[in-house]
Amino acid sequence: MSSKPDREDIEKLRLLASVTVNASDAIVITEAEPITELGPKIIYVNKAFEQMTGYTASEVIGKTPRILQGPKTDRAELDKIRAALLKREPIRSDLINYSKDGSERWIELEIVPVANENGIYTHFISIQRDITARKKIEAELQKFFALVDRSSDFIAMCSMEGKILFVNEAGRKLVGLNTLEEAVSKKLSDYLPEEDVASFYQSILPKVIDEGRTLSEAKLRHFKTGETIDVERSCFIVRHPENQDILCLATVQRDITERKKAQAAQLRAQVAEEINKQLEKEISERKKVERKLRYSNLHDNLTGLANRVLFMDRLKQAIFKLKRHQDKLIAVLFLDLDRFKVINDSLGHYCGDRLLIEFARRLTKCLRSIDTVARLGGDEFSILLEDLKDSTDATTIARRINEEMRLSFNLCGQEVFTSASIGIAFASSEFDSPENLLRNADIAMYRAKERGKGRHAVFNSKMHDRAVELLQMENDLKWALERSEFCLYYQPIVSLETRKIMGFEALIRWQHPERGLVSPAEFIPLAEETGLILPIGFWVIQEACYQMRIWQQQSQSNRKLSVSVNISGKQFAQTDFVEQVGQILQETNLEPNCLRLEITESILLEEIELATSMLLRLKELGVKIYLDDFGTGFSSLSYLHRLPITELKIDRSFIKSMEVEVEGLEIVRAIVVMAHNLGIDVIAEGVETQQQLQKLRNLNCAYAQGYLFSPPVNRDAAYDISSDRGGESKFY
Ligand code: C2E
Ligand code: MG
Ligand code: MG
Repeated sequence: MSSKPDREDIEKLRLLASVTVNASDAIVITEAEPITELGPKIIYVNKAFEQMTGYTASEVIGKTPRILQGPKTDRAELDKIRAALLKREPIRSDLINYSKDGSERWIELEIVPVANENGIYTHFISIQRDITARKKIEAELQKFFALVDRSSDFIAMCSMEGKILFVNEAGRKLVGLNTLEEAVSKKLSDYLPEEDVASFYQSILPKVIDEGRTLSEAKLRHFKTGETIDVERSCFIVRHPENQDILCLATVQRDITERKKAQAAQLRAQVAEEINKQLEKEISERKKVERKLRYSNLHDNLTGLANRVLFMDRLKQAIFKLKRHQDKLIAVLFLDLDRFKVINDSLGHYCGDRLLIEFARRLTKCLRSIDTVARLGGDEFSILLEDLKDSTDATTIARRINEEMRLSFNLCGQEVFTSASIGIAFASSEFDSPENLLRNADIAMYRAKERGKGRHAVFNSKMHDRAVELLQMENDLKWALERSEFCLYYQPIVSLETRKIMGFEALIRWQHPERGLVSPAEFIPLAEETGLILPIGFWVIQEACYQMRIWQQQSQSNRKLSVSVNISGKQFAQTDFVEQVGQILQETNLEPNCLRLEITESILLEEIELATSMLLRLKELGVKIYLDDFGTGFSSLSYLHRLPITELKIDRSFIKSMEVEVEGLEIVRAIVVMAHNLGIDVIAEGVETQQQLQKLRNLNCAYAQGYLFSPPVNRDAAYDISSDRGGESKFY
């Protein structure tokens, strides 16, 4: 129900309006009737209206609000307002209005119908607020939210108290929420894994407030699965643009699960690669060690050459290859350094080693790269020559090697000469065995050595027979002592002054069951090599002393006879050698000065200090010493005066040469003079002729021994000689 307002009403309104005059909102009062298409008539506007619209009150009073509307004013909204006004209901609306100058502006409109005391609606009071700025912000915000919603990142806002205000669509999807309503119904702490909540409030939030923003890696909780999602989180504070009050906390978070996974995978890959590298390194180290080990298993440590194992393997392969290349020949060279022992003993092992290294180097120089050189041990080397056309290829190489060795070796500051004895064996068929081939080369090497130093010899089957013979002999030698196959022959030593026998040299013979009487030259070196010389030598001394004692007892004239026994280096090196001799003398009851020991210069050479003390002890025992084969060995007279030597025996080669060469005679003369000066008597060995005897007599040589007087004879014959011509009777 409405009616025209009366005067009183208007006054009332004016009063009301005066109150609103200074209000900041625009106030418009209209009549309640009639509500036409254009709206009710304006009867009052306040100051704020005038300022807002640019119209003066007089310009609008009597007009309808239509004056304020324009093209962008929402028609539907106007219809809605009119419908409300017709029903006399209050209404709120946002509309675009136009100022006098035509400019647009958003207003928030609130229209209230006013009734008088009778309940009749007489007017509408409309309060208009300029919300252009807000609308602008809202429009911007709309755009912003549209953007935010389209973003694939998790974007959210919450109040400082932790109330969620907004979570965009991507964010909701990420944490398993469907609607915004659902999202805002949660608290901030619900979005975090339980264990991160405290640290967020204690350290992250204060930091954001302090610095405005933070960037860190964090975790979100998935509402459905409860699993955590790795994110990169940027938090910042939103402040009021004017007063800078904190409005809310905003966050943009990016799902980095994939990146994390990739990082973890990369890390795992890195670790795996690191482990792999480590493993590879270890394997390669182990391989290196294995290679080294394999190398050292197959190579000689000193020279770096192949060792016996590798050599034999190569030889085996080479022989196998002959199957396919029947026109080819392979050769094995066996080398042994001449005089190595002398060099090693005199210059020491260090220099000996240097010699072997240098020797190996020169050897390699003489060969092709396909040839195999090996050190078999000690001073023994071997060479495998493959693909030879004929045997002269190998002998040429052997010659070249000795040519190369002819140059001196400089060892530890000393110039040393050496050569090699080389044995050569050939194989032309696959049926030869590597062992036999090497053995044949070894046998040939021995033959080469026998021929002199720096020679080579090619193996033939005769050599093999000889080697077999030697082996057989070695075997037989082992039993010879037990089987009493040894006997002593005796050769008289005659005084050139008295022409009487002064004694006998005991010389061993081997009565071999098949070979007959074997000379010591044949089996003594073998006995020395095998060590059998020790029991044999002991037996010789024992037998000689025993025999001499018998002869002495048999005849008064034999009382002064002596017996001399040859002693080998090995015997002499025994520490209890003097005791052994003493024991034999005691057992046989022979006067010690009736026993003479014949030693050679080489024995003295080995260790002069030790040899000297040994000789002094023997002298103490009363035994005399002969220096045998004088002139053939070291030939240095310088040490003679220091040694307790009673006689020296000039080697028979000098006696022989005395007859044919002038120098020979001079050498013998010099030896005799020198020996006399040292108070040593001389025995001439191997006197065979009267001329020799005469010359020796002229030189005042004291004693002689030789076929001229008697060859070595067995004990009965020797006894005959001694009883016939020994003692008182003259020998010649
Ligand atoms: P040796 O000690 O120089 O002995 C002298 C050698 O010369 C003996 O040879 C002897 O038969 C030989 N001989 C003596 N007078 C003449 C001569 O006028 N003309 C020629 N051409 N030769 C003569 P044998 O008995 O064959 O002994 C050879 C070597 O064997 C000995 O040389 C000695 O070194 C060694 N020997 C012999 N018996 C033993 C022994 O019981 N023990 C040791 N360790 N060695 C022995
Ligand atoms: Mg002798
Ligand atoms: Mg001799």
